[in-house]
Amino acid sequence: MWGRRLLSSPLSPGRCRAYRARAALAQLSHVLEAELESIRGAGTWKSERVITSKQGPHIHVEGSRGGILNFCANNYLGLSSHPEVIRSGLEALEKFGAGLSSVRFICGTQNIHKNLEEKISRFHQREDAILYASCFDANAGIFEALLTPEDAVLSDELNHASIIDGIRLCKANKYRYKHMDMQDLEAKLQAAQKHRLRLVATDGAFSMDGDIAPLKEICSLAQKYQALVFIDECHATGFLGPNGRGTDELLGVMDQVDIVNSTLGKALGGAAGGYTTGPKALIDLLRQRSRPYLFSNSLPPAVVGCASKALDLLMESNAIAQSMVAKTRRFRSKMAAAGFSISGNDHPICPVMLGEARLASVMADDMLERGIYVIGFSYPVVPKGKARIRVQISAVHSEDDIDRCVEAFTEVGRKHGALP
Ligand code: PLP
Repeated sequence: MWGRRLLSSPLSPGRCRAYRARAALAQLSHVLEAELESIRGAGTWKSERVITSKQGPHIHVEGSRGGILNFCANNYLGLSSHPEVIRSGLEALEKFGAGLSSVRFICGTQNIHKNLEEKISRFHQREDAILYASCFDANAGIFEALLTPEDAVLSDELNHASIIDGIRLCKANKYRYKHMDMQDLEAKLQAAQKHRLRLVATDGAFSMDGDIAPLKEICSLAQKYQALVFIDECHATGFLGPNGRGTDELLGVMDQVDIVNSTLGKALGGAAGGYTTGPKALIDLLRQRSRPYLFSNSLPPAVVGCASKALDLLMESNAIAQSMVAKTRRFRSKMAAAGFSISGNDHPICPVMLGEARLASVMADDMLERGIYVIGFSYPVVPKGKARIRVQISAVHSEDDIDRCVEAFTEVGRKHGALP
């Protein structure tokens, strides 16, 4: 039909272009539908629940009646809706405007950005710091700027996707060591001796398992083989260690970890933003070379205001950082007593190990029916046969909230045969 029409009445150049554009769109739609169907078929479709209130331990979720107890945010210290954090964000918005309409080096640096960078480096006891729009960007921007084909990067196999992507972008020689396996790291360090610089990269705390990198051992291997140490502290900054400085403080190696990347989007107010903190020369180089910093807008003032206040609160006293330790222990010990297996060590990420993907998914749905919001994770996010429900404790959960969560787990676990 089309062929006949084309022969009998040739299309004008304009109609020909429109026809090709429609054909390209039809082809794209065909490819996308097949891809989407394969995601659905694999059972890995991620849907989003819509929250209609502030982030916090008690939220409202579209489609659910009444309040919901929230156990799946990275709001470890409850600062996302802390009145002083919100006020500070509002003040910065009023005084410094909605945003800079610019990248930092053109016309996008305000005194609040410089003050926040100074505060971050003081908090971590490092020489300098640089802000990014997210920690994903900080991870995307560091390896390529720092490492050349003469160098090597050694990365834990379970590192966060943003570290993996950042490493993919750099031209250094890549070594992947088995998760937290120090023998394997040592073997890889030996193999990497031939390169100019060696950088060991690890999450401080791993978000799927709630386990903590053995930084003491990593640092001593780094010393032995003259390597640098980089940690991603997204799930540690603000609450691990006696003063909430992170995994390096917890394990007594603040002076041996060279570079820290972290987020302002989890414990530190939860708005957005990330940073690198470390030696001044490194930060100077990142300001010159790091692509997500150079080619992306400055952090909005309201975000800077919120994070800055969160850091003030943490530097004034360690009470907030410490307030969640007891709650995490309460949840972990009560769940273990009920017969559940919780992975990780003393971290507020408490993965309830269930094994089967379907079990994790139906239990999470049943928990929501009981007013408790938790999320099931299964393959490919976690290894096959290691499906789990990840529970995250916050300093602002009350003991009663935690006990309600344990009771609901016990009921739902019995109902689905996860408990005797
Ligand atoms: N690194 C880790 C370990 C994370 O868990 C995340 C966020 O999920 C990121 C980096 C990215 O942080 P941001 O949300 O600031 O981009």
